[in-house]
Amino acid sequence: MEKKEKTCSFCGAKGSEVNYIVQGITGLICGDCIETVYDMYKEDYIGKQKKLPDDVTLMKPKEMKKFLDQYVIGQDDAKKVLSVAVYNHYKRLKHNKKEVIDDVEIEKSNIVLVGETGTGKTLLAKTIARMLHVPFTIADATTLTQAGYVGEDVEGILARLYQAADYNKEKAEMGIVFIDEIDKITRKSDNPSITRDVSGEGVQQALLKLLEGAVINVPPEGGRKHPHQKFIEIDTKNILFVCGGAFDGLDKVIARRLNTRAIGYKSADKSKMGKVNFLQYVIPQDIKTYGLIPEIVGRLPVLSYLDPLEKDALRRILTEPKNAIIKQYEKLFSIDEIDIEFKDEVLDLIVEKAIDYKVGARGLRSICEAIMTDAMFEMEADENNKLVISLEYAKKKLKNKDYLKVA
Ligand code: ADP
Repeated sequence: MEKKEKTCSFCGAKGSEVNYIVQGITGLICGDCIETVYDMYKEDYIGKQKKLPDDVTLMKPKEMKKFLDQYVIGQDDAKKVLSVAVYNHYKRLKHNKKEVIDDVEIEKSNIVLVGETGTGKTLLAKTIARMLHVPFTIADATTLTQAGYVGEDVEGILARLYQAADYNKEKAEMGIVFIDEIDKITRKSDNPSITRDVSGEGVQQALLKLLEGAVINVPPEGGRKHPHQKFIEIDTKNILFVCGGAFDGLDKVIARRLNTRAIGYKSADKSKMGKVNFLQYVIPQDIKTYGLIPEIVGRLPVLSYLDPLEKDALRRILTEPKNAIIKQYEKLFSIDEIDIEFKDEVLDLIVEKAIDYKVGARGLRSICEAIMTDAMFEMEADENNKLVISLEYAKKKLKNKDYLKVA
């Protein structure tokens, strides 16, 4: 007698058509159905076990700024603007879930932060998410593609947010997404990918879909789309998007506008503007001139800027934030019961090198690592369990790594 072929009791697929099939007591299940059922299990069961987003901690803007101060040095204007925008966003969510009061539709206020790379844009968004206990994810606008092209699509970003929310749809729908390098998808920017349209406009359109609050079908596992995967509908209406970009050359756009429009205006006084950060005068029109399509600009109503990090700020970043790099070394060594001390001149040297190499705050760690690798390898202290990192020691280590070449 011919042996009957095994078939999946859930989808009816034949054993020969699938690459995996498991026999249970009364039936069989194929690999695709296992994945689908697992997604459902996560959404329907695990997700609901977690706390619901009612617990979004709503501090007042002033308290939010104070919280940000613990992690982010300087950038007071951005902190203020962000605190107010985030407060308003979640206040609306919490206190009028209906979204419509007296026919007044409250639109969400996505945010754009302009400022040099490594000045704290991502850090600000991340810190806010941590403060509110809402899920957070970072996406890079340059990897975004129009649907069908190679790269990440908007669904992928939401899938990651959903994962960050422990597969809790409601929680994901109140999350924060940071979209980096938004300036790189402007019409004028060089096209970094051959698989993408040269104008960048298609990508901007894809992004628009997210920003304007559409309901989007998301494959829970992101990229892996298979026919049986169950999609979840994520409503982006209440997801807060914080976009960041260096907008190289935007200062010139602003300066041009100020000069033509603001004759006799105090702030346009050239002599006063010497080293002033022109980005502080940014208005939506400037980012439109820069090349973002008007629809996107309209969906990003809150605009703020970051200051370049000067010597003093870099020096503070080394030691002051709650998880400052130097504090981290102290902790690492204290676990081995070594009391480590960095001489002030060493900290100055690290900052100097970060400025020489134009690596900003992001480079501080690698410079520290160059100094500290051997010490962490040796883990040696004096008889009092103390290890002092002197200027001489730091210079020697940097010299070995060729760090001192740049004057
Ligand atoms: P951006 O998004 O502006 O390019 P990031 O926020 O990713 O820059 O900053 C890179 C790293 O540099 C951060 O992880 C943080 O360690 C440090 N950093 C940058 N700016 C600040 C700041 N203002 N205060 C404290 N640390 C900062």
